[in-house]
Amino acid sequence: MIQTVLGNIKKEELGITMAHEHFNIDLDHVRHDGVSKIETVEEVVPEIEKMMALGVNSAIEVSTIDMYRDIHKLKRISEITGLKIVAATGYYLSEYHPEELTQKSAEEIAETFIKELTVGIDDTDIKAGIIAEIASSPKGFVGQEKKVLEAAGIASSKTGFAVSTHTGKVTAFETVKTLLDKGVDPDKIIIGHQDLIDDTEYHLELLKNGVNIGFDTCGKSAYMSDEVRAHNIMKLIEKGYGDHIVLSNDISRRTYFTSFGEKGYLSVMKITVPLLKEYGISDEDLNKLLVLNPARILDK
Ligand SMILES: [Zn+2]
Repeated sequence: MIQTVLGNIKKEELGITMAHEHFNIDLDHVRHDGVSKIETVEEVVPEIEKMMALGVNSAIEVSTIDMYRDIHKLKRISEITGLKIVAATGYYLSEYHPEELTQKSAEEIAETFIKELTVGIDDTDIKAGIIAEIASSPKGFVGQEKKVLEAAGIASSKTGFAVSTHTGKVTAFETVKTLLDKGVDPDKIIIGHQDLIDDTEYHLELLKNGVNIGFDTCGKSAYMSDEVRAHNIMKLIEKGYGDHIVLSNDISRRTYFTSFGEKGYLSVMKITVPLLKEYGISDEDLNKLLVLNPARILDK
């Protein structure tokens, strides 16, 4: 069973799934750049429809409480487009954390996550289906980040829902260890943004823990070329880890939209998948990355 904003579905109903997206998000309250947000249902629906026209059926929407996730809007977006959306509970980077987290224990923060996973988000009965995107700062854990990660571990081990992270190379192993120490099933862990690190040996060390990794910023070629991304995926598949990779675009601002002349939510299907095919991926492995892996990780 997978918990979406429109209710529970069977894992076979998921189809091609983007593992790390934002359809309603506000990072602007910290960044103040005027563009780091996606506010309206109207602006995002056509972008999602273009993605769905390429075969995408579902997405994990990883916007957190402190990204001002709006569950009513996510429900509306799902109703209008037909996209199956798994919403998240969680907190992001330290600078986004509400002040109250300093006063709370990991157990108390976990209670918030468990309430959103099992009772409902805000005043609704719409439940989160994953704990995400649990973040650590690039140079190490800052402020309450480690405590929030521990809370995610507690909530995951108690409920069986997966944890998806925002993680760089510095904090990756500590992130995995912290979650495993809390009793989280390694196959319920997605270590996110790993495509931004061009280091297959490092990826293999992480994957030895039984976790999954996100190649989830596809199309963001300013940070990493899409050719390198796809080559690195192929290397990991050749090493036997095709069961532990998920894909996404991670669009967090409207200026990435096709309406601004950019690639929007289309990069996985229009850039990464064709490159993987060019590099010889089998249909079976491609189906794992797009369909089977997200379904297995989300299902409980
Ligand atoms: Zn993200």
